[in-house]
Amino acid sequence: MKIGALEEHYKLELVPFYDSEEAKWLFSLAAEQVLNLSRSKLMMAKDMEINFIDQQKLLSILNDLQIGKPIQHILAEAHFYGLVFNVDENVLIPRPETEELVEWIISDCNKWLAVDSLTSSEKPSILDIGTGSGCIPITLKKHLPYAKVSSLDISPEAIIVAKQNARQIGVEINFIEADILHFKYEEKFDIIVSNPPYIRDLEKAEMHHNVLLHEPHLALFVSDDNPLLFYKAIAAFAKTNLKPGGQLYFEINEYLGKETIEMLEDKGFINIELRQDMQGKDRMVKAGLDVR
Ligand code: GLN
Repeated sequence: MKIGALEEHYKLELVPFYDSEEAKWLFSLAAEQVLNLSRSKLMMAKDMEINFIDQQKLLSILNDLQIGKPIQHILAEAHFYGLVFNVDENVLIPRPETEELVEWIISDCNKWLAVDSLTSSEKPSILDIGTGSGCIPITLKKHLPYAKVSSLDISPEAIIVAKQNARQIGVEINFIEADILHFKYEEKFDIIVSNPPYIRDLEKAEMHHNVLLHEPHLALFVSDDNPLLFYKAIAAFAKTNLKPGGQLYFEINEYLGKETIEMLEDKGFINIELRQDMQGKDRMVKAGLDVR
């Protein structure tokens, strides 16, 4: 079969599940990986014959797409902040809004370093809570190589994926397997960051079925009764485990910005800042601890 003909078949078969631009994009991602051809080469090669084995591989990817498997799971990789991460069903696929959170921290650290570099002899230390694929701590360590980065998750399966990513990307991270709801630690940090589960049952209806069926519910959902459960636990932990002048960064549920800020104020955090993501949704919060 020729590439062009297979592409047409793909697009037709994916029509009930994806719009035509998405279907085209999914084919090019699949073909890029199976045939090892760049996307521009692929566009020029419509008449190229595909051998039987590659054809079977591409058709099997098509089957997975038809049952709603995310392309990142099929290809076992996801792109985040210019890096490539392994992902599987045990970790959340890194999201673009989380890139914005990471960007905020990198830019704050660079500013801080520019001011403080002559006086500060200590490396800043960072802890990411609920690390999943490791996209947050690994990207931070890659861009802030002088920082000491630790990373916590309750799921041993997620830690395996995150460790593999750290090794592949070539950064040193201290991994901790623990439940933040019952976690005590002697070390203190300059920065604590988290993208904890924040989707309530009442928001499930807004979600794409791919996410609901194929991504880990442990990383996504909280009960409607106590949607800030993890935020409260992390804020309490940060009160004891942030150094004076340290900062807490959260990715948040777009509908719970006000509640998150109030909770942080109640716990005595200062200089609380809310930011929106690229889609204009309340998505990130930063809070400081008084210097005492
Ligand atoms: N933003 C993610 C999503 O849509 C959720 C991330 C989270 O729960 N922490 O699906």
